[in-house]
Amino acid sequence: MAITAPFLWLDGTLVDSAAATMPMMAHAPQRGSLVFDVGSFHPVKLGVAMFRAREHVARFVRSAKIVGLALAYDEEALLRAANDVVVAADRDEGLIRWSVYFASSEPDLLPRDASTHVAVAAQLLQDPPRTTPIRIATFDDARKAAPEALSPEAKVAAAYLGPMLARKRAIAAGADDVVLLDDQGFIAESPISNVFAVSKGVLWTPPLGRVLPGITRDAVLALAAAEGIEVREAPLTREAFAAADEAFLSGTSLPIAAIGAIDGRELGSAPGPVTARLTSRLVAAQRGEDPAFAEWLTRVVRR
Ligand code: PMP
Repeated sequence: MAITAPFLWLDGTLVDSAAATMPMMAHAPQRGSLVFDVGSFHPVKLGVAMFRAREHVARFVRSAKIVGLALAYDEEALLRAANDVVVAADRDEGLIRWSVYFASSEPDLLPRDASTHVAVAAQLLQDPPRTTPIRIATFDDARKAAPEALSPEAKVAAAYLGPMLARKRAIAAGADDVVLLDDQGFIAESPISNVFAVSKGVLWTPPLGRVLPGITRDAVLALAAAEGIEVREAPLTREAFAAADEAFLSGTSLPIAAIGAIDGRELGSAPGPVTARLTSRLVAAQRGEDPAFAEWLTRVVRR
């Protein structure tokens, strides 16, 4: 579980998080129109650094554009806000959450008042990351919205409702999480993570266009290339996924979670060798221990 740090950045100032509330009738909760992005910060030698914060901010700006939320702050201001909430949190590890939402208290489908608020918060993880492999369920009728219905690139609150119900269903079926199919029946992604499979030494992941362009997904692909692992970004059938030698989820809060079973079939000893190699490279990169990927880090500074 993540708890919000005592101070968050709201429209340019640091405020008490508990005082940052939203009207009951606001469009964001009533219609799910709030757009957000989640990045992370980590301890590095002599300080703290945000991992790929520029990419998170750029994706946040793209999501807001897709949903039609005007952002009054540019990418540099959103990065500075993140820096400042991490400094105020006074911790060396956690998540950063950027949100933009209609200020309007009209719950009507299209608010007349299009002005927005922007909040940036540091969140602290209460539980240690899970180290045991997770069990995945898939269902033929647990699918992502078709890209024509809602772009998979928009991190908007409303997009998480179907995946939330699918995760509940997976847990009721004895698994830990679900992997959703896309509208054509291929493997897509989990509610809040991308999916990878390893088969005969080749690393597979579904192509962009039907899944969120995960920043951890991108990091895994870059690290796999550096490791000389063959990669295919190509449609993955449910059958091929279930028959994989290794599989894992990737996402900011994980950053890699080994999958131990798919639809009841055990995958052998998880994490497998490819998953373990990529996990240690990724954790090293996040902690500034991999000079080849030093540009992924933005050092947090007191201003
Ligand atoms: N897919 C979805 C739908 C997500 O919400 C997330 C979490 N942002 C991911 C994948 C993983 O993305 P990232 O690696 O950027 O956290």
